[in-house]
Amino acid sequence: MNIGIDFDDVITPSIETFLEWYNKNNNTNIHMKHYMEYKTQMPHIKTLEEYCQLWWDFYATEEHHAMIPKENVIEILQKLNKKHDLHIITSRDEKIQKHTYKWIENNLKGIFKEIVHIEYFYDENKNEYSHLTKADICKKLGIQIFIDDSISNLLSCVNENIKCILFQPNTFYDKEELSKVPSTIIKVNSWKEIEKEIEKLEKNQA
Ligand SMILES: [Mg+2]
Repeated sequence: MNIGIDFDDVITPSIETFLEWYNKNNNTNIHMKHYMEYKTQMPHIKTLEEYCQLWWDFYATEEHHAMIPKENVIEILQKLNKKHDLHIITSRDEKIQKHTYKWIENNLKGIFKEIVHIEYFYDENKNEYSHLTKADICKKLGIQIFIDDSISNLLSCVNENIKCILFQPNTFYDKEELSKVPSTIIKVNSWKEIEKEIEKLEKNQA
């Protein structure tokens, strides 16, 4: 099967590591829950451009390159790679792809068929920057199973007949938000659970 996998916070503990780095450098104490609620409303950050730049700065750091993959990621992806085509589908900008590739080269070399970055382009009709959605990319690649920690990314895929898996929902969302997620989206809290769900989907397909 063709399996699409988000990168940040599915394969790596990116927000956690980003916040440790940010807090250390700015003498702040921002926790994950606060960050998920307020995102761009961080001290020192006034605009979306500054926020993006902050993340781009983080991708170049030692802390980013030293991130340890989430628990069981390596062994499970190695197993899945024997039977399936694995594609990374990430919202990371292509501008910082050398940092993404370096991390993958060091930790998960040879596992992925490809790494697809969401392309941003200038939409002259709307007079603003736009991009393909992850659903657009999944359709283009013929993805059958898509794993992401973002509810909105998955919601765009369920209507495309793609089996969707929401990773670690309790870490990133509160109960109210989770109650609105349709039951067609499978919720898992570990890579062991992802492995089981993929096995089940495989059996159903056979
Ligand atoms: Mg993510």
